[in-house]
Amino acid sequence: MSDLIRLENLTVTYERHPAVHHVSGGFAPGSLTAIAGPNGAGKSTLLKAIIGELRPAEGRIDRGALMRNDFGYLPQAADINRRFPISVADTVMLGAWKNAGAFGHFSREDAARAREALGIVGLCGFENRHIGSLSAGQFQRVLFARLLLQDARVILLDEPFTAIDQRTTRDLLELVLRWNKEGRTVIAVLHDFEQVRAHFPETLLIARELVGWGRTQDIMSSANLVKARAMAERWDDESEACLPEGDEHEPAAGDHARREPVQ
Ligand code: ADP
Ligand code: MG
Repeated sequence: MSDLIRLENLTVTYERHPAVHHVSGGFAPGSLTAIAGPNGAGKSTLLKAIIGELRPAEGRIDRGALMRNDFGYLPQAADINRRFPISVADTVMLGAWKNAGAFGHFSREDAARAREALGIVGLCGFENRHIGSLSAGQFQRVLFARLLLQDARVILLDEPFTAIDQRTTRDLLELVLRWNKEGRTVIAVLHDFEQVRAHFPETLLIARELVGWGRTQDIMSSANLVKARAMAERWDDESEACLPEGDEHEPAAGDHARREPVQ
């Protein structure tokens, strides 16, 4: 079967410093893939490129017929501002934005579905709580409820269980596995290698460049993990992307990675 998402020689840079370098490979439809690698390996950058938040400096991402709405994305906790004055119910309903009318009004059905989703993640009765008042685990449950409402074909999770209590991790991992059983393609950045080996059949191991991508039992070998660590130790944050000739334009001052929407 052909891949749902294909990366072809993908390089993503920040001010010309490559965070993801020459990565090629594909995610099969309905696959369940862990992304693993050292800190600063380009894991978050790769997810942002896949959803179209960051544009390739080189190479391309083929998303076939997938549209923006087909992607559900859970950012790394550090990237989320929880001081924003918004209730649990509204946070969840934002997952239904694609169903909202032209003026962004939520329907009664959206509210009912949000309540139902909160029930599934174990947060009945939390609708009117301010998100700033929740524990890290409770907030992660809210974000999973939002993903439930979004009902996306492809779900990308960036370190969904980092700094989350064990019970919440167990409950939310179960939800991830259920999403995959329903036929959704799931891609998750994970730190816990035991969890990866136990539940994720495919692994993409990255240290800015690809270390390996395939069956978890083959990829998560000690030789590959040592290689990833050695590659991380060699990083030179000042090195520039090897852009093809003729693409040597000077970036504007303060130019961050170029952003583009998914077509
Ligand atoms: P990981 O998620 O694997 O820890 P990231 O994708 O967050 O790695 O980062 C990869 C590299 O890109 C790191 O060197 C990081 O410092 C750099 N980086 C990440 N985000 C930005 C940004 N917004 N601006 C400049 N550099 C960034
Ligand atoms: Mg990250």
